[in-house]
Amino acid sequence: MSENFPIVTLPAPSLRERSLEIDKQEVTTPQFQAFLDKLEKTMDIADGIGIASPQVGINKRVFIAVIGRQVTVFINPEITKKSTSLTQTEEGCLSVPGVFGLVERAKRITIKFMDRHGRRAELDLKNMDAVVAQHELDHLDGILFIDKMTEITRGQMPNRI
Ligand SMILES: [Zn+2]
Repeated sequence: MSENFPIVTLPAPSLRERSLEIDKQEVTTPQFQAFLDKLEKTMDIADGIGIASPQVGINKRVFIAVIGRQVTVFINPEITKKSTSLTQTEEGCLSVPGVFGLVERAKRITIKFMDRHGRRAELDLKNMDAVVAQHELDHLDGILFIDKMTEITRGQMPNRI
């Protein structure tokens, strides 16, 4: 199987840049498919439930997240609906080691994206799935959970994303 990438941590510049859209033609290339496999492997080895491309130093608009039990690839994702009701979750980040804190995010979202075969897709996500997707989408815009954190916690039940 494909090897894994090293995960970059603060102050890596890729974590603070806006990532670029991916062309549909690029998605189905063997190179991009291999990149997705390697990104997934990196998430697995780090014991994460989500990982975004800038976390391996590549500023492309793609992230992978475990939704339900299914590993899902989100390419050029866009949130089209957000609930006004919020949920507060303890978050951590593979790229910000040792820091954990409470973040408020929309409890439910609708997200549009391209799947790993270049097909248009849309999902309604709630609770932890919605939190992970919002955290990862922020990575594509150079935003980290520490920018939104309301309180530092001790990281007893950290979600590694
Ligand atoms: Zn993160």
